[in-house]
Amino acid sequence: MLRKLLIANRGEIACRIIRTARELGIQTVAVYSDADRHAQHVLLADESIHIGPAPSAESYLVIDKIIAAAKQTHADAIHPGYGFLSENEDFADACARNNIIFVGPPSSAIAAMGSKSAAKAIMGEAGVPLVPGYHGADQSPTTLRAAAAEIGYPVILKAAYGGGGKGMRIIESAADFDTALESAKREAQAAFGNDKMLLEKYLQNPRHVEIQVFCDEHGNAVYLAERDCSVQRRHQKVIEEAPAPVLASSTRVAMGEAAVRAAQAINYVGAGTVEFLLDHNNQFYFMEMNTRLQVEHPVTEMVTGQDLVAWQLLIASGEPLPLAQDQISIHGHAFEARIYAEDPNHDFLPSTGTLTILRPPVTSAHVRIDSGVVEGDEVSSYYDPMIAKLIVWGENRTVALQRLIQALNDYRIAGVHTNIDFLRRIAGHKKFMQAELTTHFIERYQRDLFPELTSELITDYAIMAALAEHSSPNLSANPWATERAFRLNEPKQITTTYHHDNELLTVTLTAQDKTWYHEPSASYWQVETTGERWYFSKNGHRRHVHILASNADIGVMTDFANIRFARHQVALHQDTAVAAGGLVAPMNGTIVQVLVKAGEQVTAEQPLVIMEAMKMEYTIRAPHAGLVEQIYYQAGELVSDGAELIRLTEA
Ligand code: ADP
Repeated sequence: MLRKLLIANRGEIACRIIRTARELGIQTVAVYSDADRHAQHVLLADESIHIGPAPSAESYLVIDKIIAAAKQTHADAIHPGYGFLSENEDFADACARNNIIFVGPPSSAIAAMGSKSAAKAIMGEAGVPLVPGYHGADQSPTTLRAAAAEIGYPVILKAAYGGGGKGMRIIESAADFDTALESAKREAQAAFGNDKMLLEKYLQNPRHVEIQVFCDEHGNAVYLAERDCSVQRRHQKVIEEAPAPVLASSTRVAMGEAAVRAAQAINYVGAGTVEFLLDHNNQFYFMEMNTRLQVEHPVTEMVTGQDLVAWQLLIASGEPLPLAQDQISIHGHAFEARIYAEDPNHDFLPSTGTLTILRPPVTSAHVRIDSGVVEGDEVSSYYDPMIAKLIVWGENRTVALQRLIQALNDYRIAGVHTNIDFLRRIAGHKKFMQAELTTHFIERYQRDLFPELTSELITDYAIMAALAEHSSPNLSANPWATERAFRLNEPKQITTTYHHDNELLTVTLTAQDKTWYHEPSASYWQVETTGERWYFSKNGHRRHVHILASNADIGVMTDFANIRFARHQVALHQDTAVAAGGLVAPMNGTIVQVLVKAGEQVTAEQPLVIMEAMKMEYTIRAPHAGLVEQIYYQAGELVSDGAELIRLTEA
């Protein structure tokens, strides 16, 4: 067995690998960049080595640094995880040259699958069904155009060395061919340093079904069932499940056997995934083979009861496969949902920031969470913004799906935007429940999955946030908000300002007994809380709402939407040195209001300008009495740190 394992990765997958290594009595070494100094994978490992600055090109992707770390710590093996160097044949070779076991296939197998074109040629020869297409060496536009015509439109153009959906174009007709080819080549060249293309018939509404295979050094090969990863957004997986629903067992066996043939054709060793497209006639076609552990491997673990990382480590140390094909069976159903720090309402833009609240659902034999972060950690822009993988199991698909929805409902995250609402809408969608899966699921049900956040809806949520803060002043860590609520208690009117989508949103509510009136929307509100649970009634319609508050923001979550409002804070203590120094902007920001006019006489301490920066308001006051000689900026203008705002002469 291996003695010491270095994990050349970070985040959840590094933590996941460390967990199994520890169970097997293997010592672990983490590597980390500047950004990951205090990351969970570093804390979990027995030893850790710093490998450079935050950008992965200068740390996690530098082969020499990883090899040096392994030598320094006398690790006898390296697990690459997924992404980073996991499918890099040079890295596998460098490990071999340095007598370090690479937990993965031989570099020749990585190379064989590194090009989708070459892979298809090998698979065709091994008798694995292929999507009709062209994967030849002749890359002249004329040849490619002729091939597309022969295949018949629509066709899909793919970068031979591509991945992650980059360099891929669906072409509907011959008229679009040239433009699509040019742009796909440009994208592929930029992303992969190679613009070789292949063409395939574009299948209408296929499913993405992939087979987990394992091979050992002794010639044994098995498949561990399949995963359905049809629910995708821009060709990226969103929710995965095992087994694939409504799949005839004859198809399952045929796919499994084809996948094993595929692996054997390249003398594969270790864990691999053979991806297929499945059409509505139950025909399946080889798409590509991933020569590593997949993100979605846990769903296979849940239904087979096997630890795939343990299998990888056993095989890497030269052991035979733990089970034969007839000893592998599937039990129940599992789902995985990828929880991301991203904003579904803004084209899934990654959302960075501090995870001020991170309370996952309770884990059990049925609910598993693979994560690499804890409350207080930062989601930075350097790496993939995945927060966690939520994996659930049930006796059957229906039970598993109920557990998935429940767990998504129980997830509490504040500080960054997340896709949890979006995942919940998919999981709760009638067609998803009916297992009507295709790779176009998200596009097709776009309207249901992205309900419009109207300004009425946002106002309602802001009202609930304001009422929550008013009813429970300790919700707001912001002393000013408390003070304001307190001060305005008497006239029973509250005014709260939030930021939403870079806009200021002010709600004013007036109380009559225990009912709050919001004039602009002519709505009546009541609020009840037990401290933990919140209920809001709008015009007599009462519902349960989750409130999540942190210093920086307050989140209002319902079954329908999860809206976060950034607190609009007003700086209480002004940096007097800056103020006295002479009317300059204390930081980069925006002028909110100019309170004086040129030629006006002002007294010491009189407010002159209000500016906003980092969601805080700053009041620039007169350091002394004087005459306003000149005003350099108007409301709405951006100013940079140190810019002179106003010229004031001594009185
Ligand atoms: P990448 O390596 O960039 O992820 P893949 O070749 O794995 O690209 O394809 C990703 C996804 O694109 C598939 O899961 C499927 O949804 C879609 N796709 C790929 N090839 C075809 C095809 N021939 N017909 C229809 N959809 C396809």
